[in-house]
Amino acid sequence: MIGRESNLRKEAAVNLSEVAASTQLRKIRQQGYVYVELRRVGRRISFFCILCLTPCYSETVLFVHLGGNLHKRRLAGAKATLFGATPWPFDDGVLFFDTSTETDMLMHDAPGLGRNCSCGASSRSSCSVADEVTTCNWADNSLIIPGVLLKQGVSGLAVQPLGVGQIAYRVQENKESRGKIITRIWCAWLGQEGSNLSDELNVPVTSQYAIVNFPYAYGLGRKPAPGDEDLPMQPMLPRKDVATLLNRRTGNLACSSRNTTGAFHPFHASCLIHWILICELEMLADQKQSTETTEDAREDQRLENRISSVFCPECQGTGISIQGEELEKPTVPLSEMLRYKLKTIEATEAWMKNPEMLKKCSTGLHFPSDCTENSEENVVPLKLLHFFRAHEQRQA
Ligand SMILES: [Zn+2]
Ligand SMILES: [Zn+2]
Ligand SMILES: [Zn+2]
Repeated sequence: MIGRESNLRKEAAVNLSEVAASTQLRKIRQQGYVYVELRRVGRRISFFCILCLTPCYSETVLFVHLGGNLHKRRLAGAKATLFGATPWPFDDGVLFFDTSTETDMLMHDAPGLGRNCSCGASSRSSCSVADEVTTCNWADNSLIIPGVLLKQGVSGLAVQPLGVGQIAYRVQENKESRGKIITRIWCAWLGQEGSNLSDELNVPVTSQYAIVNFPYAYGLGRKPAPGDEDLPMQPMLPRKDVATLLNRRTGNLACSSRNTTGAFHPFHASCLIHWILICELEMLADQKQSTETTEDAREDQRLENRISSVFCPECQGTGISIQGEELEKPTVPLSEMLRYKLKTIEATEAWMKNPEMLKKCSTGLHFPSDCTENSEENVVPLKLLHFFRAHEQRQA
């Protein structure tokens, strides 16, 4: 009994410090530091700067961090990309944050829920919604995604449109050699009205893929996968936003062509956007090179493993409707996948240091180029990217 009492006392002490930390955090956020939140590391509570992914174990340490050079650099990048009139509606804990100052909830680091963006599960849906996804007036409807593994089993997942992003890139063309280099590619958040702007924006294409966003506590279609191996990344935290890929043409989640159980891979919303951007970039490079080197057979060979579609960065599913039990096969070797992921991480870092200056909030990739002489730069709109959010679970 004595042990129990002392445990209770310890717990009370922990709760007290949580209350104190919440009060401190509220004040800190009122001062404009909306990208600071609370996280628990073991039994300790820490302030956490989402811009720098830095834990600070006291208010003093936090303010030293906020006054430091690293933070100032990241803040400058964030001001240019994340602090617009229409902020990204996500809070994924690695790039996007909740700009409302109301949030003072304690975030619990949850070991065992997946250390990073990757997931080892795999499965698939048996039916497809077919083309109505792209042809229906989806803005007025919930879209039902069939055969998704949720908390209570496999069922239809209702998602509502959240808004639209515009993918565009900056290209540098050498006036003499006509060689082209893409120096930046990004997604700008247009918000809910974005889909009405496509004519005005002169964006000819809508991406075949969309992003579906969830709160992580949502009972995601993720089976525990011990032994996941991937790049060291940030964990996905309960209540934070995670995202998965939807194939708008078939109405299936991308992972559904790689498994038959309805399981799918969740990622940080920002990581998934960056992955889509790298896929688009590779597809652009592929087009460019294949027109330049059509007669070079060796070159064709070299390009064999290039990315030809957006796909799940974990299982490489595209969400095509599969025939019977014959699952889609991955086409990109794991070593190549690792190379693309590293390239994405580097380019995201470079973007935060030197982002495209846009009126809208954005996130993107930057590939610094040294040959700026004798070249001409253009910004090219590429695609609209639709975003959905799953609010509650319904039967199809
Ligand atoms: Zn910071
Ligand atoms: Zn997947
Ligand atoms: Zn991630």
